[in-house]
Amino acid sequence: MLFTELGLSDAILRAVTEKGYTTPTPIQAQAIPAVLAGGDLLAGAQTGTGKTAAFTLPILHRLASAAKNPNLQGTPIRTLILTPTRELAAQIEESVRQYGKYVKLTSAVIFGGVGINPQIKVLKHGVDILVATPGRLLDHMQQGTINLNHVEILVLDEADRMLDMGFIKDIKRVLAVLPKKRQNLLFSATFSEEIKTLADGLLNAPAMIEVARRNSTVEIIAQKVHPVDRDKKHPMLTHLIKTHQWSQVLVFTRTKHGANKLVEQLEKDAISAMAIHGNKSQSARTKALAEFKGGNLQVLVATDIAARGIDIDQLPHVVNYDLPNVAEDYVHRIGRTGRAGAAGEAVSLVCVDEFSLLKDIEKLIKRELPREIIDGFEPDPHAKAQPIQLRSGGGGGRNQQPRSSAGAGKPRSGAPRSGPAQANGNVAVRSSAQHRSGGRGR
Ligand code: AMP
Repeated sequence: MLFTELGLSDAILRAVTEKGYTTPTPIQAQAIPAVLAGGDLLAGAQTGTGKTAAFTLPILHRLASAAKNPNLQGTPIRTLILTPTRELAAQIEESVRQYGKYVKLTSAVIFGGVGINPQIKVLKHGVDILVATPGRLLDHMQQGTINLNHVEILVLDEADRMLDMGFIKDIKRVLAVLPKKRQNLLFSATFSEEIKTLADGLLNAPAMIEVARRNSTVEIIAQKVHPVDRDKKHPMLTHLIKTHQWSQVLVFTRTKHGANKLVEQLEKDAISAMAIHGNKSQSARTKALAEFKGGNLQVLVATDIAARGIDIDQLPHVVNYDLPNVAEDYVHRIGRTGRAGAAGEAVSLVCVDEFSLLKDIEKLIKRELPREIIDGFEPDPHAKAQPIQLRSGGGGGRNQQPRSSAGAGKPRSGAPRSGPAQANGNVAVRSSAQHRSGGRGR
């Protein structure tokens, strides 16, 4: 199957070719014709499968080929893409811009944790495609600074994550104001009862597509467990980085506090490190990610939610400094490496407290991970397990939590509503020169 066989316009194919893609991924091969046909879609696909292009390309095609209602003033929002985290929102909008480089459409991204006024300005001006996190979108709805009356296509991306993060009510309030007649695309990595209920209420005779779960990609990633004592994890990580001369390693910790502490420790060891998590300022996150992607930063320490959707090509090393409390997050984490057939390596530093989490992971991926004890770091065979602290700060020792510890439930005061951010600034509008001269009266 070639991209040219999917029915996309030359302008879009040109942008795809410039990105260097030759063949569509399985989700693209199936979703693109379905979306072009105009029907609803229910797709099971995770980050890394090419799902962003799977919905973005046909949306661009449809919007570009179907002129907007000439009676409408300005640029109404014709496509709304909802996604759980700021990072993902920023990345999707970036993709919209890249894939839509040669079509006359504009896009913007809005998310919380940053000033609302520049967003209001952009929304007033109008864009064809809006990418948003639910919380901030709702803020705009409440303030009357957004008009969603002309949305033709709705995308719920990573719907399972949005529900995990407590966004269901927000999503329902958004759905309630959208025009009844529209195309709905729902993407989710998993299909819980809650997702099925949402899909039943939202989708009309959807095309259903499920592509291989990440679990199957797990095959190409070399995975190892290093048993270690709780308090030896940091020296072990330094030892691994230094002896193997790892130059770009993504390290996962369970808590924000743990991420900060580890950064301090690594820096004392002369290893350049930065943390990326929900408590970090927008500019700190942007900087950390850019430095890491640019190869100037040796270690990026992240929490699960912060790292979700981060797309770094050919990341060679992922370290689970702490195992995730949800087995599926392990698969998401290690999926950051070994992309596009590149060999990747994922190592987990596991202490006695985490043995039951390790068991859950092995059950999920249906294989036992090889254990390798490192000389000088032999774990104490008599060590007793202690309860795991899942959250930074308060409480401690609580083992029962919704799926995502960092983003679960309602936002805390002062904390950003929808996870971490990236992107330069809070809002980005695309409109190349030739688009502007496209005579849309903007
Ligand atoms: P996504 O699942 O949308 O996060 O995409 C994962 C990665 O795959 C991104 O880096 C895309 O740029 C890349 N990608 C998407 N489609 C293709 C394709 N057809 N061929 C090669 N790479 C692709």
